[in-house]
Amino acid sequence: MSHSDPYWPQPLFSPDGMTSPRVMIAPQRYIQGEGVLDQTGRYLSLLDVRRAALLISRRGQRGEGVRLLESLERVGIEPVVATFGGECSLDEVDRQMAALRAETSPIDCLLAVGGGKCVDAGKCIAYRLDVPLVVVPTLASNDAPCSAVSVLYTPEGVTSGVEFFPTNPSIVVVDTGVVARAPERFLVAGMGDAMATWYEAKVCLENTGARTTVGARPTLAACALGQTCADTLYEFGTEASRAVIDDRVDDALERVVEANTLLSGVGFESGGLAIAHGIAQGYPAIPVVHDNHLHGEMVAMGLLTQLVAEQNLAEARRAASFCCDVGLPVHLDQISLARDRTGDLDTLVAIAIASGLPKNMSFEVTHERLLGAVVDADRLGRDVSATKGDAAFRRLQAG
Ligand SMILES: [Zn+2]
Repeated sequence: MSHSDPYWPQPLFSPDGMTSPRVMIAPQRYIQGEGVLDQTGRYLSLLDVRRAALLISRRGQRGEGVRLLESLERVGIEPVVATFGGECSLDEVDRQMAALRAETSPIDCLLAVGGGKCVDAGKCIAYRLDVPLVVVPTLASNDAPCSAVSVLYTPEGVTSGVEFFPTNPSIVVVDTGVVARAPERFLVAGMGDAMATWYEAKVCLENTGARTTVGARPTLAACALGQTCADTLYEFGTEASRAVIDDRVDDALERVVEANTLLSGVGFESGGLAIAHGIAQGYPAIPVVHDNHLHGEMVAMGLLTQLVAEQNLAEARRAASFCCDVGLPVHLDQISLARDRTGDLDTLVAIAIASGLPKNMSFEVTHERLLGAVVDADRLGRDVSATKGDAAFRRLQAG
């Protein structure tokens, strides 16, 4: 069996003329801890797997791949290694599908092992093959692992759309030891993506006209996850960064990895998005931003814009102060844009509005109003940065 038709959740949850229900979306199992990578084979007993494909980069095959193969061997699961080419594009998905379909006997599970793009490509392939997906993220830089949606790119890396799936990953296995050894900038970018979850879900909860990405109303459960996510980051964010600098796992890192991956992933999908992610969708269209910045860094900038647009300046300052502490960008220079690049800012705002996400705000978001918020957020960010300093930001960008 296989799926060839695209799946759209909006007609299911938001049919014309009917009120939208509250819908909670989540993976079936979320497993996080130091060393859990080596137990992945045992966890697959939940799915009755005999032959599993591993979608993993060539570099990953020399690292986590070795441990995963050993773990599968111990429980008698036959592995098929599929080398991920690096881009979540339909070309890549087709190439992997052709190779897996040419296998002599079919696979009954797909493991996607790597960063956000590998995870998202894995969702596309598992859906087409109609096999369960196990996600093994090697970074905590984004909220892709738990969700049932992929962001698609052209082979050149430009965003080209999204693909939805009727089911979430069956199992998500996050080894905090692996995350601790990845560069600090990835964990911090994940904090930027995660910090926006609560502020975006809150907007959607309070505005009865707002809808989540699947066309549903937010659940209180997802909003509570989003709130815990923000609280966790404010309290433990800098401590978790220190753990990653020292390549060690501690309780602060465990908390922040869960915030970045589970709380943020379920929180955004069942809580809804707003201006923060709308702006984050606009930034990749500006080549200098696309080439130099991570998704979570763009979301952090989008969050400040959203809070300023809401005229929630106390919270905007609190978020900007957090960003300065952990090393996220807070003004346009730090996202590689000088203030006078009006053409780029117009592009940014136009794409943000076209994303439809600003419609979830309780007020009308016009081009002028959003552009004004981008400029005012820049001013606020400069102000906070002048007080707090930019040492963490410069350390991360220097890599
Ligand atoms: Zn995001």
